[in-house]
Amino acid sequence: MQEPIHMVDLQRQYQHIQEEIDQAILDVVRSSRFIKGPQVEAFEDELSQYLKVKHVISCANGTDALQIALMALGLQPGDEVIVPSFTYVATAEVIGLLRFKPVMIDVDPDSFNITGTLIEEAITEKTKAIVPVHLFGQSAPMEEIMAVAKKHQLYVIEDNAQAIGSDYHFSHGKSAKTGTIGDIGCTSFFPSKNLGCYGDGGALFTNDDVLAAKIRMIANHGQSRQYYHDILGVNSRLDAIQAAVLRIKLKHLDHYCDMRRRAADVYDDLFFDHRHIITPYRVDYSTHVFHQYTLKVSPADRDNLREHLAALDIPSMVYYPVPLYEQKAYATYWEEGKELENTEMLCASVISLPIHTELTQKLQDHIGEGVLSYYS
Ligand SMILES: *Cc1c(COP(=O)(O)O)cnc(C)c1O
Repeated sequence: MQEPIHMVDLQRQYQHIQEEIDQAILDVVRSSRFIKGPQVEAFEDELSQYLKVKHVISCANGTDALQIALMALGLQPGDEVIVPSFTYVATAEVIGLLRFKPVMIDVDPDSFNITGTLIEEAITEKTKAIVPVHLFGQSAPMEEIMAVAKKHQLYVIEDNAQAIGSDYHFSHGKSAKTGTIGDIGCTSFFPSKNLGCYGDGGALFTNDDVLAAKIRMIANHGQSRQYYHDILGVNSRLDAIQAAVLRIKLKHLDHYCDMRRRAADVYDDLFFDHRHIITPYRVDYSTHVFHQYTLKVSPADRDNLREHLAALDIPSMVYYPVPLYEQKAYATYWEEGKELENTEMLCASVISLPIHTELTQKLQDHIGEGVLSYYS
């Protein structure tokens, strides 16, 4: 009998590091320092060394990280922030919550990410910031995005929730971790993310000392020292148990990225040159950490293929089925009839297959056969 297949297998990943994790959690419980404290500080330090970024400020989740980043920039109500229309809702949600205007733009149909040209077409005198998302684990073209930002004096907040560990390669030869190139990088430690904890968590990264100090204050009730509140803030913090788990998993992050890349290579081979299946495009300016392995198929086949797979007990997902601007909550930011061609096409054609650190060749062969049998 075929073992059950999961989109993400966190249980088996835990079993490989069980002793270390159990001990670390127990140590936190015994210390009874549950909020902030040495585990959180050590994790922030270790992550900043890994990312080669000056400041890491942890917070409660990835959505909070984006919100705090936007709060730190001093924007005014009505200011425009450019975001991809093909992304997870959190990216645009916080912009609306803060009474800024999310300007949802089209993405490149191959890389799934926004480009310098698409951004430039959307810039108005009210534009203040850009939030590129490194979707599915591959960097947006940061060099051209930073060039556009510089030219128009815009802030850049990288939504790195899906790409932690990925390297951006600059044309001058150097590399940097995604999330450390713009003014602020944001990430999520949601359990299924590439660096996930055992609950909720998030973080912001920056090389800017002034922004870092402001971010720390905002995440802590706008407090400069205890009981002195200089600006409006929020309450958003990582707890010590999550930090202890993340310290262990950070040591394995490069290995986890390799395992995901290896699984992606196996899928690429299984679907190589197939007439009806387009495998993920790999850009030359970024490594891919495959938060998702996302195929493109004909819109006429996509939902039938999913049903075919479901009948074989093979899970699949559609990230994302609806363009952001077609979500009811975002209708006010959108003019009827202005559908974006690539986003519409992607929402109708993408299908993501199981990808995680515990996939075996045998399982992938089985998943591959399932996909191919739909077309035979
Ligand atoms: C997961 C995710 C977020 C939000 O993170 P949470 O920790 O769930 O709040 C934001 N943006 C993107 C692209 C994500 O994938």
